[in-house]
Amino acid sequence: MDFHIMTLFPDMVRDGLNTSILARAAQRELISINTYNIRDYTTDKHKKVDDYTYGGGAGMLMQAQPVFDCYAAITAAQRTRQRIRTIYVTPQGKCFHQEMARELASEEQLIFLCGHYEGVDERVLEEIVTDYISIGDYVLTGGELAAMVMVDAIARLVPGVLNNHDSAETESFTDHLLEYPQYSRPEVWHDRRVPEILLSGDHAKVDAWRLEQSIARTKERRPDLYERYMAEHPGKRK
Ligand code: SAM
Repeated sequence: MDFHIMTLFPDMVRDGLNTSILARAAQRELISINTYNIRDYTTDKHKKVDDYTYGGGAGMLMQAQPVFDCYAAITAAQRTRQRIRTIYVTPQGKCFHQEMARELASEEQLIFLCGHYEGVDERVLEEIVTDYISIGDYVLTGGELAAMVMVDAIARLVPGVLNNHDSAETESFTDHLLEYPQYSRPEVWHDRRVPEILLSGDHAKVDAWRLEQSIARTKERRPDLYERYMAEHPGKRK
């Protein structure tokens, strides 16, 4: 899967994503992370990419021209004739979640637009953006961290990226539940013992215990998800 990220800070995005699991996935050519400096596409002789907003108000706005030309260069270089989904990361979008990550992981290519300053001229958004996505109800200084969060969450769901496929199958948000508590060696640490059942070797009992723990944890920490789980599993006791 190919990620194309339009940004004013390509180093930040490249450095942030070129580590650990994603770096190995890129080496194995399961994914590619391509960054494009929007500033390289401005026609302004001073390399400016922002200007004042019409109607007044604080702050500067990213201009349409360099964003559009950057987008046009990316799409022209791809072999596909299909329109590539283009995500503007913005606090004004739908809130990102695991199901969205799964759905986006089935795309062959994705383009991300990272805004800065007060945002981006609406006219270019209307022309190129297919999806408006937020990573939460707060305002960041720029879209880079948001795009990195999304690329990380999507890329790890691309087949082959995680060594142990199970870990994407049973982790938090599968079936609206948070993951159960987990333990590693030693068996006793700070006088705290690993729950006996996990040492029993009885896989059916371990699975039942884990499900029970997942349900209890979700009920306590994320009652909103718990309600959705209960609605889909009416047989489970409250
Ligand atoms: N004036 C904008 C508003 O009120 O909606 C906020 C602009 S913000 C300072 C600059 C850029 O950061 C945005 O264009 C967007 O790309 C990114 N950004 C900020 N918060 C974000 C969030 N919660 N999710 C995704 N992107 C965000």
